[in-house]
Amino acid sequence: MNSPDEQTLEDEDPWWQSHKDSMGVTLCSVGLHVAVLAILAMIVLPHKLYDSTEYMTIRTEVTTNAPLETVDNLEITPDKLVAGSFNDLASVAVSTNVVSDQPSATTIDTKQEELQWEVDAMEFLGQKHKFGELSGRTDEARSILLKAFGGSATSEAAVASGLVWLKLHQKENGSWSFNHTSKDCGNSCTSAGSLGNNRVGATAMALLCYIGAGHTHLKGNYQETVKKGLGFIEQEYLKAENKGDLRGVPFGNSGMYAQGLITIALCELYALTRDRHLRNMAQDSVDFIIAAQHPENGGWRYRPNQGDGDTSVVGWQIMALTSAKTAGLTVPGRVQVRAERFLESVQLEDGAYYGYIAPQKKSTTTAIGLLCRMYYGWDARKPAMQVGVKYLGALGPAKDNQYYNYYATQVMHHWGGQDWKNWNRVMREMLVSTQTQEGHAAGSWAPRDPHARTGGRHYATCLSILTLEVYYRHLPLYHRRMLKKEI
Ligand SMILES: [Zn+2]
Repeated sequence: MNSPDEQTLEDEDPWWQSHKDSMGVTLCSVGLHVAVLAILAMIVLPHKLYDSTEYMTIRTEVTTNAPLETVDNLEITPDKLVAGSFNDLASVAVSTNVVSDQPSATTIDTKQEELQWEVDAMEFLGQKHKFGELSGRTDEARSILLKAFGGSATSEAAVASGLVWLKLHQKENGSWSFNHTSKDCGNSCTSAGSLGNNRVGATAMALLCYIGAGHTHLKGNYQETVKKGLGFIEQEYLKAENKGDLRGVPFGNSGMYAQGLITIALCELYALTRDRHLRNMAQDSVDFIIAAQHPENGGWRYRPNQGDGDTSVVGWQIMALTSAKTAGLTVPGRVQVRAERFLESVQLEDGAYYGYIAPQKKSTTTAIGLLCRMYYGWDARKPAMQVGVKYLGALGPAKDNQYYNYYATQVMHHWGGQDWKNWNRVMREMLVSTQTQEGHAAGSWAPRDPHARTGGRHYATCLSILTLEVYYRHLPLYHRRMLKKEI
């Protein structure tokens, strides 16, 4: 990861000033977060489908000294929301803000409490940044970061019930499937995905959800669940013809997605546990990704070394290699140089926007491209980064594209400030209010996505959980970089 240049931010940086103001505190910093994760979204990513994406307009106007909203004053009961009418959420957010602008003892207390949360988070990030990207996943850190970056007891409860649903749908051999159905589902867990043979991809997504909340095979309440999933992956690893090839059989077009996803999971597990048993498996899967990169255009596609890379597959591989570096595994510097060459080949306006296989201004691929750029060291002051983030913020979360939401939420979290707060308010409530509450499907999400048919309920549930883990899953990139300079 490149280091941002060393000049002082305070005086002339408009990004810094706006974020500082939006925190409402002088000691400030920027609020953000990152994410080194991933998911198998896209199976044969039909990018044309994104043309019809409907977005949720963020209409909230918040003054710089307005108190932060918590979910508790944004109570939205599911029966008030009709599926597809998410603009209601923005309306609620606006009215809440109006109320919160009225001075009262309650708002003063709330504001002081929230400022304290931010101070706690800054202290944590200042002390712990040297311990690495994944240090937000302890119980203590999750509590601090959740409060400071806009999570809530309700969003955490949604994550918790999602993890229970996943456990109930783990297969006997420790794997998960995009065809999640079991004899216990009855008529409750509808929307099975058609990509039932990509067990590695489905298992990787589920494991990422547990790991994202700090659950490993050696720690937490789901040790057996994670251990069984890991056991399935190890069997796949042992029977692979080529070392580190975890694409699963048959590979199909989803093979490299599965490879990227499981590599992230293995790297994160190794980083969190330092379990030496995992090291070779993680490094071998990383090496497979490195060898699969096209040497000239720097991209990845459905098959190793396929010439025409696409941003969707590339995004997962870059996230996997970022996780590898976090875990202290070996990634040659030339890989980033080549990957940046690919990103340049699909970008518009100096990297503000990204297309799928050609330069275009597309929402999902722009979110992926910007997240990659953030991890590859782009400064927040870079005009293209500012333009790209503003574009996503203006679009808002999508009603029907959780893959886009997953990436864009990470971008906005890293970005921080008021832009993040506005985004998060809508995104968080959309996910909390659309989680299934009844029957065997309780804790899952019905798919509302271009990949609904292939990924099904399992895919939608994993992406939703991971999105709600954004507060602590990765430490905010820009925040950490800034603190490093100041300490
Ligand atoms: Zn079920």
